[in-house]
Amino acid sequence: MSDPREHHEHGYIRLPAHMVTRRRLLRAGAAGLGAVLLGACSDSSGNRSTGTAEQTSGAPLTTLSGFEEFADTVKVVTDGEFWLVESNGLPTHDMMVGITSWQQQVPVSQPYTGTNAWRIPSAPAPADEPVSGRTALYRGAIALAVNGVPIFNALNNRGDDAYLAGELDKWGGHAGRGDDYHYHIAPLHLQDSVGRKHPIAYALDGYPLYGETEPDGSTVTGLDEFNGHESPGGTYHYHGTRTYPYINGGLRGVVSVVDDQVDPQPVTTAFRPARTPLAGATVTGFTSPEPGSYRLEYSLGGATGEVAYTVTSSSVRFTFTDPQGTVTTETYAREGTRTGTPGSSTAVES
Ligand SMILES: [Zn+2]
Ligand SMILES: [Zn+2]
Repeated sequence: MSDPREHHEHGYIRLPAHMVTRRRLLRAGAAGLGAVLLGACSDSSGNRSTGTAEQTSGAPLTTLSGFEEFADTVKVVTDGEFWLVESNGLPTHDMMVGITSWQQQVPVSQPYTGTNAWRIPSAPAPADEPVSGRTALYRGAIALAVNGVPIFNALNNRGDDAYLAGELDKWGGHAGRGDDYHYHIAPLHLQDSVGRKHPIAYALDGYPLYGETEPDGSTVTGLDEFNGHESPGGTYHYHGTRTYPYINGGLRGVVSVVDDQVDPQPVTTAFRPARTPLAGATVTGFTSPEPGSYRLEYSLGGATGEVAYTVTSSSVRFTFTDPQGTVTTETYAREGTRTGTPGSSTAVES
């Protein structure tokens, strides 16, 4: 499909075999990194953790500022070189409400765990050639919010501002082609959760992203084209803003970019073919009647439609009720725990 309104590409979406049109092998990360994470996670005593911040209790290490607030659902450990962040990719706030350019995707939990965890450099360093988000990084995430939700470029793959295009809910997010929830602008609502002293996100180059004020409460001045600047102490950080670039407008720090996206980063596994835009629809409601069950409501031409779905680790079952009242059901199998050699990943591009 080459619908010009097709949603921007989401990097690292892996399709089931019957949907695969082109196969590429991508190596992600240094060999052994995944093994380190697995070791840190599987050893309940934590005594075998490596790196500078040794785990001393059974609880996961959460000393990366900002993440503490979400320690119940977002796990952070370190292997010394990277902070390794595990989450299911779903926020605790409601989702999808307010979208006026809806691609008919819905939020489904993602296995950002083990070798598929997020990796944030623990010692960020300025790059000789920073990468601008205006012309690159249109695929995949460029940052991770402290509630475990990834943040993508504010521009979609047509170069359009996803927020101004009506693609985002009132929290700045939506579900992508892998039914993966992510933000495209700064989740400034997290300022209320973590307080101004803490970052609301980290760019995938390792630099923190604060809200609309400095950590000491003073006014933000002198932001560069990446929405960042050096603090008086000489360390670089980004800020969230209410206008473009909203988030880090690129990556000032050292990263590896492969196929226009930061590499490595978690693989998103699509379990159904990408949906098409539903012209004229507005998402009006989203509820979770019980854990793993969701109901999205939309209005179209004065009538109401609904997508009800139930998610488990192995399947997703949908019941669609269109505005004419026609009911259809679809069930999709999901892959279980991602398999592969620790320290490498296999991705299939759509
Ligand atoms: Zn998106
Ligand atoms: Zn600042």
